[in-house]
Amino acid sequence: MRVDRALGRLSRDLAIDPGTSNTRVYLRGRGVVVDEPSVVALQRDSGRVLAVGAEARAMVGRTPGSMITTRPLKDGTIANYKVAEAMIKAFIAKSLGRGIGRPRIAVSIPSQLSDVGQRSFHESARAAGAREVLLLPAPMAAALGTGVPVLDPRGTMVVDIGGGLTEAAVFSLGGIVQAHSIPVGGNAIDRAISAHIAERYGLVVGDHTAEHAKREAGRATEKGRSRAAVIRGRDHQSGVPRQVELTSEHLYLPIAPLVEQIVEAIRHTLSNTPPELSGDILESGIVLCGGGARLAGMERLIRRRTGLPCVLAEDPGHCAARGAGAALEHPEIMERIALSAL
Ligand code: ADP
Ligand code: MG
Repeated sequence: MRVDRALGRLSRDLAIDPGTSNTRVYLRGRGVVVDEPSVVALQRDSGRVLAVGAEARAMVGRTPGSMITTRPLKDGTIANYKVAEAMIKAFIAKSLGRGIGRPRIAVSIPSQLSDVGQRSFHESARAAGAREVLLLPAPMAAALGTGVPVLDPRGTMVVDIGGGLTEAAVFSLGGIVQAHSIPVGGNAIDRAISAHIAERYGLVVGDHTAEHAKREAGRATEKGRSRAAVIRGRDHQSGVPRQVELTSEHLYLPIAPLVEQIVEAIRHTLSNTPPELSGDILESGIVLCGGGARLAGMERLIRRRTGLPCVLAEDPGHCAARGAGAALEHPEIMERIALSAL
């Protein structure tokens, strides 16, 4: 913590990772203090923000006609600038609390964002009270947060499986050497699961229910430990509520084609990597991060399909926020990875 001279107040620098599914805020000296769904509840007519984060997510699928819930970030880009700004502002305010001066704020932003999109993230952080805003490419922030030595003159590979996107990237000397991203992540898996349940069991379920089943019993590999999840929905024919029990084997069917696409994206990145760096990766392997990487069997599948070592990062969903926070604490790193001022 430092004293903000102009205001004579204490200020803590912070890093924010506004993801498609979840937003995390890392407070310098404290760690991740906010980890909430990137959801906003609005009054339909006025557009007034009623709730953000966990509170707003609890309303999804349950709102009366006068209210809507929305996810302002879609597939790594901003679907609604005004709402995204309001959400980022609210999360920053929540983590700073009262009486804290103007912090420096690092924002981890999707790598393929347009100038307009970048400016919007910049302005949201400004509006939330930032003295200085630093924009970092999300794959770089995530890689830093996994602890792989991205600044070294050696190839390292990190794959971030988020809600909307999977981004595979190879790093060396603090830069992204090769990257490939596909709009397939945890959300696509949830959608496939709910479509499968509708088709196979005649049961209509919401996305949350499909996600619950995935976490409880989903698996990326055909064989492995079997678990089961009880899911509730509406019978397609009779319209009456009903429940079914699904096992890992049932869930593997809709999951398989999507995890194969993720594997394909990783292979594509590897096949375009310069040979010296490929040699390094053969030794260092692949590090997985992002909440989607927590799907059971994911590392095993990637290990088997690529023949490379593969490990899951610690707290995989927090990597980008932690990495952006680390950059704030190390100016020599920040200097190398921050995007130039707009
Ligand atoms: P983003 O960066 O896009 O906000 P996250 O890195 O937070 O996304 O990852 C969110 C995704 O991770 C969601 O699709 C969620 O369902 C998935 N996820 C979280 N935990 C698990 C788990 N234990 N098993 C499978 N998927 C998970
Ligand atoms: Mg993310």
